[in-house]
Amino acid sequence: MNLAEPQKNFSLKAYNTFGIDQVAENFISVNHIDKLRETLLKYATKDLFVLGGGSNLLLTQDVPGLTLHINLKGKEIIDTYDAENCVLVKAMAGEVWHEFVLWSLENGLGGLENLSLIPGSVGAAPIQNIGAYGVELKDSFVRCDAVEIETGILKTFDKAACEFDYRHSVFKTKFKNKYIITAVYFCLTKQNHLLKTDYGTIQTELTLQGVENPTPSAISKAVISIRQQKLPDPKMIGNSGSFFKNPVVEKTIFQSLKEKYPDMPFYEVGDLVKIPAGWLIEQAGFKGKRFGDAGVHTKQALVLVNYGNAKGRDILALSDKIQQTVFKIFGIQLLPEVNIYP
Ligand code: FAD
Ligand code: NAP
Repeated sequence: MNLAEPQKNFSLKAYNTFGIDQVAENFISVNHIDKLRETLLKYATKDLFVLGGGSNLLLTQDVPGLTLHINLKGKEIIDTYDAENCVLVKAMAGEVWHEFVLWSLENGLGGLENLSLIPGSVGAAPIQNIGAYGVELKDSFVRCDAVEIETGILKTFDKAACEFDYRHSVFKTKFKNKYIITAVYFCLTKQNHLLKTDYGTIQTELTLQGVENPTPSAISKAVISIRQQKLPDPKMIGNSGSFFKNPVVEKTIFQSLKEKYPDMPFYEVGDLVKIPAGWLIEQAGFKGKRFGDAGVHTKQALVLVNYGNAKGRDILALSDKIQQTVFKIFGIQLLPEVNIYP
């Protein structure tokens, strides 16, 4: 098999949704699993940067070594488990997430509709256990295949091995930079779909669209509509979605904050309380603010944006400023959700 030669000094501007113009010293896009493994064996794997759709990434400098763009394609129904309500579906890592969701809906399958219009690739979806509107990837995840970077050996991770949590998996801690996910398997429903319409404004949107008995496709349409109204399209304004995670605090801390800020929204998560980071940032006065070409989105303060020529370090400086101000006012440390390189 012929291996592609790396492209030298390759601009990553079109490969990250923030639109940051940093350069990969060497860049290879792989579309076949054997090529992926051979590339790992041929080139030094120490200085390796794995890239999917670049939609959860802030580049603050050029990338030395090899940038490997995962472009493995293919999606199929593996098993229809006739006696059960579950269909086992496999999608390769380089599939575009939203196109995969639409394909599953066209095949009459439920489970991914609330995760419609999330940018990025299938292979990156388990990394932070993508979530939206009360549904997370882990709810329909069965297993994933991943190549070990050091050895090129293909391994399988079941749900327990992935240690999924809120915007978190084992691939962000113990196995960070150790594996490349090559395929993800899902259990999707044929009927008796577990519909989730009570989150955010989904129900309001369904009512607006005149939907009385929602189907997975109707929920997907509602989610797409809400997202298009509220979130900046990276093709128009560079961004990486939510820049910070929503903080989750002890009840005692929450109660003293609530006394001081009675309007503060909150959601109970077991014994803890989640406070929307977007609200904290808005209260700190940042919503819609612009500092050169780096800014805070006008409709959702959790989204930092690049109005054109911001550098990664401009966005990082803004995020530092936001973290410091929020901490000063509320005593809450916001943690980035976006992967900051290096
Ligand atoms: P990249 O940005 O390319 O990579 C992210 C990380 O994963 C990097 O560390 C990279 O090294 C690693 N990685 C990528 N591919 C692989 C692989 N195959 N194997 C191993 N490691 C890999 N996220 C949500 O959870 N919910 C949302 O609702 C949501 N909405 C968004 C809306 C907008 C407008 C934008 C821009 C982003 C949003 N995101 C959301 C964030 C982002 O879309 C997801 O995190 C997505 O899964 C990132 O996929 P990607 O392919 O672009 O990953
Ligand atoms: P929103 O509806 O304005 O809500 C603000 C926050 O409140 C959300 O972050 C959400 O937390 C939380 N929330 C709302 N309803 C809730 C409920 N019933 N129970 C528990 N928590 C609730 O949020 P939005 O900005 O428009 O985003 C809508 C959904 O898309 C959210 O789930 C959000 O996570 C997801 N999204 C994610 C990204 C990203 O990059 N990660 C970008 C855009 C949108 P959660 O975030 O924990 O759900």
